[in-house]
Amino acid sequence: MKQTYTQANTRFQNIDAFEEWTTDAADEVYQISRWGEGYFAINNSGDLCVLPKKDPKGPRINMMEVIDEIKSKGLPFPSVIRFHDILRSQVANINKTFRSVIEEARFNGQYMGVYPIKVNQMREVVEEIVDAGAPFNYGLEAGSKPELMAALAMNVNQNSLTILNGYKDEEFLRLALLGIQLGRKVIVVVEKYSELLQLLELSEKVGVEPMIGIRAKLATKSSGKWAGSSGDYAKFGLTIPEVLQATRLLKSHGKEHCLKLFHYHIGSQIPDIRTIKESITEGARIFCKLVKEGARLEYFDVGGGVGVNYDGTASINYTLKDYVEDVVYILKQTCDLEDVPHPNIVSESGRLVTAHHSCVVTNVFGTIEIGKSDLATEKVLNEHVLVSNIRERGGEITDKNYQDVYADALKIKEDTESAFKLGVLSLEERAKVETIFWKISRMVVEFSKIDEYASDEILMLRNQMAQQYLCNFSVFQSAPDTWGIGQILPILPIHKLNERPEVLATVADITCDSDGKVDCFLSPDGPSQTVPLHTFKTGDEYYIGLFMTGAYQDIMGDMHNCFGRLNEVHVFCDDDDPTDFYIEEIIPGNRSEQVLATLQYNPETMAQTMKQNIDQQVKRGKIRPREGVTLTDFYENCLQGYTYLKR
Ligand SMILES: *Cc1c(COP(=O)(O)O)cnc(C)c1O
Repeated sequence: MKQTYTQANTRFQNIDAFEEWTTDAADEVYQISRWGEGYFAINNSGDLCVLPKKDPKGPRINMMEVIDEIKSKGLPFPSVIRFHDILRSQVANINKTFRSVIEEARFNGQYMGVYPIKVNQMREVVEEIVDAGAPFNYGLEAGSKPELMAALAMNVNQNSLTILNGYKDEEFLRLALLGIQLGRKVIVVVEKYSELLQLLELSEKVGVEPMIGIRAKLATKSSGKWAGSSGDYAKFGLTIPEVLQATRLLKSHGKEHCLKLFHYHIGSQIPDIRTIKESITEGARIFCKLVKEGARLEYFDVGGGVGVNYDGTASINYTLKDYVEDVVYILKQTCDLEDVPHPNIVSESGRLVTAHHSCVVTNVFGTIEIGKSDLATEKVLNEHVLVSNIRERGGEITDKNYQDVYADALKIKEDTESAFKLGVLSLEERAKVETIFWKISRMVVEFSKIDEYASDEILMLRNQMAQQYLCNFSVFQSAPDTWGIGQILPILPIHKLNERPEVLATVADITCDSDGKVDCFLSPDGPSQTVPLHTFKTGDEYYIGLFMTGAYQDIMGDMHNCFGRLNEVHVFCDDDDPTDFYIEEIIPGNRSEQVLATLQYNPETMAQTMKQNIDQQVKRGKIRPREGVTLTDFYENCLQGYTYLKR
């Protein structure tokens, strides 16, 4: 079910409040400095740039130059652009932050983080993370057999961890033991009690000692969309009695030395730092008590959940540094009080590492204006009184009475619909009433802009009347969270940011689904139902970016309406190149025939059938032979083409 933002304000971004439009104004309106974490900035010509080193004086990749290069290679939009330097930088960031806080706190353990690959399993993404993390022995986390197989093949570093969460069968556990046989640090995290029995039995049979972790259900709960990930009724983890029982079972089997890791994960995108403090306090206390019970735990795994600031506001009330300080200092304090040695710290942050590195670039190909019509509405002889009435009322509208006029117009429109249904009004007359009604509505919207006391109904009308910008992409493929959980993603023009955006618009995609739209955007005052965009005329080149799509969106996107995966462009920074970047790789998106083949169609047979049909028409003399050949080729070319609109 689609969730809508109930709090989305009916107020509007007051673009006119900026007397002079500058790139600073654009930065504020689109909150670029806030969600961008220093990776994005606007240049003097109004183009959005990527600062891969977060250094305003360092290299600067102009996204419009990237777009030009994509065009020159003949690659159609929409396209995913991955900035691998951002990914690398985020990996270094989390590792360096933990290292420096650990040093400063004189904490005796080390940081041994892992990247949970479910957040973005693309090989190139995982490869880049593993490579950037190698100096820090940064490992991987997997939650299913295919992910585990990927992790085993990707993380060959014997000094980093491979952590296995999720429900497991015998094959899964056997794969884990294979990792141990290869000398890797593969830790099986027990999510439910019976897995422990199964693991002990299997390891006995195979003759390989496992490395075991246990996930506990903490009482501490997060708020927000993932609150259900902890507490007694959560899906994963052992209750406190089960945790104790598991420790004792291992002891009775003489395997207490196999229990290496204590884990909890209280959910994603944790909004409040207080939840983090409470979970660490609770987790650290359980950890210490278990060590005192005789468990020889070496790792304290705080899971993921570090939030990122998608909407630029204070919906996440802490920084990475705040988070890391809480983890390290609270754990240290608790261990010192309980007289337990400091463990190594593991964290499983995924969203934090990947969200910023990729974006989706789409082109606007048209706009829809509600009720726009050129129908003549002048008075004619013997016209229906409803038409005369609405015209008359419309003629009286002023900034003082516009709400009253609107109410009357609304009533006349309703009466018109009834009269039409009763057969006493012609189609022409109904069309005239509606044309005048929409003209009045547009005037109402204009008057409401200068009226700070406009009613909620009128403000709602403004939202409803907002122009829809038609963008060449599918929400379901590229931004499923905006549809599924009402997540706000930064959406803004990639160029013209030095020009005042004149239109408050919503964004519609090309799927045949009325949910295929975005109508909740960030603004300096919180969620808004419209986004300021530049006036668009047919034929204009206008590019809009959906940012922070690097976490979860790639894999959760689906093929609604058979719109397939996007072309992907992998961009690297090169300080010595005049443009500061190069395109290292292009991964072509799905062709129509690929999408159809996943749905059990056979594109070859389809093409044959079409050819036979065309040949028949040629034989019957309905199509010229030459045209028949062209049409056959045309159909085949379409099968091999991109699923999205050609400009
Ligand atoms: C999904 C998941 C993560 C990653 O969470 P983020 O919010 O992306 O940091 C970490 N650990 C476990 C067990 C998970 O299920």
